[in-house]
Amino acid sequence: MNTEEIMALDKEYVMQTYGRQPLALKKGSGAVVWDVEGNSYIDCLAGIAVNNVGHAHPKVAEAICNQARELIHTSNLYYTQQQVELAKLLVDVSPHDLAFFCNSGAEAVEGSIKLARKYMGKGEIIVMDNSFHGRTMTALAATGQKKYQKGFGPLAPGFKHVPYGDLDAINKSISDETAAVLVEAVQGEGGVVLPPEGYLKNLKDICQEKGILLIFDEVQTGMGRTGEMFASQTFHVIPDIAALAKGIAGGFPMGAILATKEVGSAFQPGDHAATFGGGPLACAAAKASLNVILDEDILSKTKENGGYFKSQLENLKDEYDIIKQVRGIGLMLGIELGFNCVDLVNDMRDRGVLVNCTAEKVLRFLPPLIIEKEHIDMVIRALNDVLSKYSD
Ligand SMILES: *Cc1c(COP(=O)(O)O)cnc(C)c1O
Repeated sequence: MNTEEIMALDKEYVMQTYGRQPLALKKGSGAVVWDVEGNSYIDCLAGIAVNNVGHAHPKVAEAICNQARELIHTSNLYYTQQQVELAKLLVDVSPHDLAFFCNSGAEAVEGSIKLARKYMGKGEIIVMDNSFHGRTMTALAATGQKKYQKGFGPLAPGFKHVPYGDLDAINKSISDETAAVLVEAVQGEGGVVLPPEGYLKNLKDICQEKGILLIFDEVQTGMGRTGEMFASQTFHVIPDIAALAKGIAGGFPMGAILATKEVGSAFQPGDHAATFGGGPLACAAAKASLNVILDEDILSKTKENGGYFKSQLENLKDEYDIIKQVRGIGLMLGIELGFNCVDLVNDMRDRGVLVNCTAEKVLRFLPPLIIEKEHIDMVIRALNDVLSKYSD
């Protein structure tokens, strides 16, 4: 099928929830993907921060194939070696002690909320304006962007929204009913917004002082994206609970909750479950992907290439007034423009680069962490071409 035929079938048979690009992808390798016509693109989105070790990484593909021949699924009524090995690996590379496995980011966020409520024995959660936590009903209620919530009420109660970066607002919002503060260390969907200097550290201090929990939504920032395995390590602030998904299993669907021993032990048999959660296939993929990050020294490469990418974007900012700001850390980067960037995404695609536009004016770059300098240079050249068109 060609792109047009695929698009026609989508229109007829698939619920139209996505504003998709007119592009049908067929295969990928490393930081490059190909469409069904055979055109290649540098993937600067990586499935939205999912393909952290690149497309079709041989180690991940091999792990999935081998595991699929052995055991694809079993119930959580039984143990598997794959699940305990992955849990140990995640605990080894994180500041946490215990893991729970699920299937997506929203599920990890909701599970984190359940865990916080169970441990604290109360329910109120303080969340941030401009945040994004997923599309299921409770994650949606936690999300601080009205555009995602409109038309889907009544929303789940129990969330108090405060401006991101505002410690006074946190202090004022904490009540006797407060169980936790839930925050993305770096707001992704909200436009690659970094925390103000010292904010997360102070937030942690406030939570400790008031005896409430701190939950990091690391669904996008986790698995090496910021240059450390987790943003908690980048910002030297350890939350009580962290929600993971996206990049955790090299592109295979998986989510996880990590927690301290004290908090994680609040979950007792029967409290929480997921039929597919931590299945052997997902765990095999996640172990392989995590080992690639460790064995191929991806964290240092992310820091180095992320710094290089950001400096190249800053050079463009010096040249083009339409770039208002360059933001980000590691390979989670964005440029804020003075106008809506939807057209720019199309122009970039025509020049063989996939990016996305978030928060209307922010062109977001989330390439696979294995991206090389040559590809970054190609992206910058394409961006330079495109921006020059908008500048006259
Ligand atoms: C993508 C994302 C989610 C939702 O993940 P899904 O797997 O789509 O449910 C939640 N939180 C953050 C920070 C995200 O970036």
